Amino acid sequence: MSGNMNLTRAKFDDVMVPNYAPSAVIPVRGEGSRVWDQKGKEFIDFAGGIAVNCLGHCHPALVGALKKQGEKLWHLSNVMTNEPALELATKLTASTFADKVYFANSGAEANEAALKLVRRYALDNHGAEKDQIIAFEKAFHGRTFFTVTVGGQAAYSDGFGPKPQSIKHLPFNDIAALEAEISDKTCAIMLEPIQGEGGIIDADPEFLAAVRRLADKHNALVVFDEVQTGVGRTGELYAYMHTEIVPDVLTTAKALGGGFPIAAMLTTTDIAKHLKIGTHGSTYGGNPLACAVGNAVLDVVNTEETLQGVKRREQMLRDGLAAINDKYQVFSEIRGKGLLIGGVLNEKYQGRSRDFLVASVAEGLMSLIAGANVVRFTPSLVIPEADIIEGLERFERAVAKVVAG
Ligand SMILES: *Cc1c(COP(=O)(O)O)cnc(C)c1O
Repeated sequence: MSGNMNLTRAKFDDVMVPNYAPSAVIPVRGEGSRVWDQKGKEFIDFAGGIAVNCLGHCHPALVGALKKQGEKLWHLSNVMTNEPALELATKLTASTFADKVYFANSGAEANEAALKLVRRYALDNHGAEKDQIIAFEKAFHGRTFFTVTVGGQAAYSDGFGPKPQSIKHLPFNDIAALEAEISDKTCAIMLEPIQGEGGIIDADPEFLAAVRRLADKHNALVVFDEVQTGVGRTGELYAYMHTEIVPDVLTTAKALGGGFPIAAMLTTTDIAKHLKIGTHGSTYGGNPLACAVGNAVLDVVNTEETLQGVKRREQMLRDGLAAINDKYQVFSEIRGKGLLIGGVLNEKYQGRSRDFLVASVAEGLMSLIAGANVVRFTPSLVIPEADIIEGLERFERAVAKVVAG
């Protein structure tokens, strides 16, 4: 199959806002963990659309759900509820700590809802003084103005005028800094259980315990942004399930639709009741088409078979990367959990993650970076083991090229 060769990468610069710098390759088709570009060149996909395509490309269960719902009902807006949304909310509450679900279309929107909710909860229960949100350096929570300001890279929120206020950033995993900052003015602590965009950085168990303890002491809520870590990515349905603590609010997106836009904010009945009629909303949030796909995703992902499979594939990927590293010495550490894996570049390759990505594309492998010093892999949770092996071979060739200069 070949693409429409009038639609070139050069055209991107003509017709698109220049906020992205996409690669020269234009993919036109995907199946499982393989993707083909306009010229028919084939790639193995270790990126999964940035931890989105949790079941690879065009998984039959998802295509089936989309087609079936596509012929029944697409959209109503929230003037009426719909069966797929009720079904998906039932699944999410049955499988997690949560009692209530709010649907959105993207991770940022789910986080926006979470941030508005924690502020409103604090206002209703404790008064207007309790508005401080504690977040962490290098965190990523999306690109709306509120979420990007809560995110831990000021460069992303600078230059757009006055920012949302009363947001404090602390070093991640620093219990002493949290102890020193938190007070009765704090309304919520927001964090990723594994920082994704920030470089695949695990929250320490002791840090998480301190987050929960200090939040409880000061009547603050704990918000877990599981937009990247959720829906089986780490080998549990949600990453909090690996930890000793339970958040008050959790956001999920990316893999929830397996490539179809959908997101959700999960919380308890007691907290949810503060989002009263008219306080928040979304035209598309919870539409039948997206929810039908979300249901199909959870039916496949939230099974022993898929979650155990993630752990097996993690081991293969780690072993393969370790073997490559033994030969070429590029990483100081392989970190992360499940199929959210980061290869941390050592001293010699500081700042060069993009070189590894570009070399991988040339070898027919799609990978990702997480900052300038981490090569990131987030393949499909059901990637065939043969594709892991072949993908690693391609990555080894890419590494050899970078090392050779
Ligand atoms: C990707 C991501 C977001 C933003 O999601 P969008 O769908 O792009 O709005 C938020 N938080 C985390 C942890 C993410 O990885």
